[in-house]
Amino acid sequence: MNDVHTLSPEHILVCPQCDAAYILARPKTGERAVCTRCHTVLIRNKHEAGIQIIALSLAIAILIVAATFFPFLTINAAGATNSASLLDAALAFSDGPLMILSLTTAALIVVVPFVRVILTVYVLSPIVLNRTPARGAMGAFRLSEALRPWSMVEIFALGCAVALIKISDLADVSFGSAFWMFAVLVFLVVIQDNLICRWSIWDSLETPKKS
Ligand SMILES: [Zn+2]
Repeated sequence: MNDVHTLSPEHILVCPQCDAAYILARPKTGERAVCTRCHTVLIRNKHEAGIQIIALSLAIAILIVAATFFPFLTINAAGATNSASLLDAALAFSDGPLMILSLTTAALIVVVPFVRVILTVYVLSPIVLNRTPARGAMGAFRLSEALRPWSMVEIFALGCAVALIKISDLADVSFGSAFWMFAVLVFLVVIQDNLICRWSIWDSLETPKKS
């Protein structure tokens, strides 16, 4: 009897969206496994995706660092010009009760996404090169997944856009280079996240190829 209930957990695949359970059949390279009930892609078996994810991760890491230090916006009001980077904004409240808030904000916008891409590169590089997984790779990937809801680059970009439109009545506001870096970041983060096949990564970590 090949009933889903009698199989051991490693032979069962559960749809993360609708909880439908399937008997695991490994798709060949280039094939996909899709949930028949809700059409969520369950397994993307693409080897070249690993290299794309690593490349995107490195681009994201560089953009995050650059976007922190370059001017984010320039405000021109009553003849005075002021430009500020994200770091300036975070440090502006460095004393007083707002410090915790500003440090938390900076962590969610900059530190968490940065840590996640570094963990992704650490976990994926040996897999892509067909090597044995890096030391602590499972823990690293679990941490990266746990941090996923706390990575708020896109929410930040959206919030900034709304705030800037509101103050543009009062002052002459122009976007600095860091703003455009964040705009690109939002797209790269979404693309990278869509390329990652979690099942394939866990599978590679649990059944490593002998090299
Ligand atoms: Zn489903």
